Amino acid sequence: MTATVSDKSLHVAGSFIDGAPVVTGGPAHRVVNPATGAAVAEMALATATDVDVAVASARAAQRAWGSAPPVERASVLGKLAELMEASSEVFIAEEVAQCGKPVRLATEFDVPGSIDNVAFFAGAARHLEGKATAEYSGDHTSSIRREAVGVVGTIAPWNYPLQMAVWKVMPALAAGCAVVIKPAELTPLTTLTLARIAKEAGLPDGVLNVVTGTGAEVGAALAGHRDVDVVTFTGSTAVGRKVMAAAAVHGHRTQLELGGKAPFVVFDDADLDAAVQGAVAAALINTGQDCTAAARAIVARDLYDDFVAGVGEVMGKIVVGDPTDPDTDLGPLISTAHRDKVAGMVSRAPDQGGRIVTGGTAPDGPGAFYRPTLIADVDESSEVYRDEIFGPVLTVRAFTDDDDALRQANDTEYGLAASAWTRDVYRAQRASREISAGCVWINDHIPIISEMPHGGVGASGFGKDMSDYSFEEYLTIKHVMSDITGTPDKEWHRTVFTKRG
Ligand code: NAD
Repeated sequence: MTATVSDKSLHVAGSFIDGAPVVTGGPAHRVVNPATGAAVAEMALATATDVDVAVASARAAQRAWGSAPPVERASVLGKLAELMEASSEVFIAEEVAQCGKPVRLATEFDVPGSIDNVAFFAGAARHLEGKATAEYSGDHTSSIRREAVGVVGTIAPWNYPLQMAVWKVMPALAAGCAVVIKPAELTPLTTLTLARIAKEAGLPDGVLNVVTGTGAEVGAALAGHRDVDVVTFTGSTAVGRKVMAAAAVHGHRTQLELGGKAPFVVFDDADLDAAVQGAVAAALINTGQDCTAAARAIVARDLYDDFVAGVGEVMGKIVVGDPTDPDTDLGPLISTAHRDKVAGMVSRAPDQGGRIVTGGTAPDGPGAFYRPTLIADVDESSEVYRDEIFGPVLTVRAFTDDDDALRQANDTEYGLAASAWTRDVYRAQRASREISAGCVWINDHIPIISEMPHGGVGASGFGKDMSDYSFEEYLTIKHVMSDITGTPDKEWHRTVFTKRG
């Protein structure tokens, strides 16, 4: 299994607007493979003017798409899932090349997970319904229409480019919206391929547009666009707040999937081996560049030393290297700039009480690589414990009793995901109720499914991706109230005027 991007010219155009690849007028841009530093594509970036064109195209296309029978939208999305399956190798190669993602992860997680999500929304498009039809007043029939909100602007991050695009775009399309998406400029390739294949699947021109550009210009223009009805965003908390402020200027709705700092709570009755294996997998998935990754292991005092030794041992055997090799466990970080940020945070940890058990260094040679890192005994006030690192780094602290464990789990501004490891059903129930997060796993950490929602609370944002719940972001609720009496002279009119003569 090797992954190569064979046709660079496919992405000479960095944008896809109104059903066609477009070479926009912004500066030239190189997409770089972070494992090698080599350019894998070159393209022109979009500008704020291109955003205007893309939004106008989406606006023009939305009415017909939104009023098409659900079966027509379902049929296009179903065909898209089929064509994506047939193009799996292209998506895998592009994801590996632009992110440095291990080919095993792209093949077994990113690409099949994305296709499943498209297939889920193909089916879900046919199940949208209003809730109430009844004569609540006695004299009227009330019904609820759920209508497409209109044009959606979406801004995506670089960590799971295809999955994040699909999570935002598919419920919007299924609901009848038209979309303009800005992928992260580091990783636009799979989003451009998705748009091209969606056209082949029969998606009308203008319903899905891609504008590749910087956050400062293209992202900001999309977030603050007057003619975009809803802005959905996945990325950092700091940028999410800027996006919300830009959309608020026009009173537009937002949905924000932001950062995380997930606790991984190991109670004293846990299966230690399961917790050790689970911690390594959940901390290192996607080189730790996962918003739900296990970041803070909080471990019962009795198990602490064995847990630290076990995780250190498994991490020490992780194979770091060439992402195209199926034997590789851990690829590079997204860029050398990001690797240096991670390395800086880890290097300051010992001054703040942390003990580096394993890792803490970058291998020699090219590429943005960094070794799996375990930092024990971290102080609650330390940077590595409080701030999102977004790298292959797990911190560990001990707890004294269950109250202390749950207090530590909630001692963060984030609330995206968490896990509790225990064989006691009452502890599991208590942890799932008391930990403040959008998802709590019991005896596992990371698995996601299209049928269930993903989204956080607090500084991790609000609103949902995946599942039927995500439709709430892309629909408006309209109450239709129809008189059923046929009487011109209604009793309630007397509240307003007395009938005279
Ligand atoms: P980022 O916030 O730096 O960038 C995200 C996107 O916003 C990019 O497309 C970027 O170009 C754009 N952007 C930057 N400045 C902008 C501005 N002023 N206006 C509009 N758009 C702007 O995030 P990142 O570094 O690409 O991704 C990593 C972050 O994403 C982490 O914090 C991670 O936790 C988060 N994330 C969250 C989820 C989730 O579901 N909650 C999923 C994946 C990633």
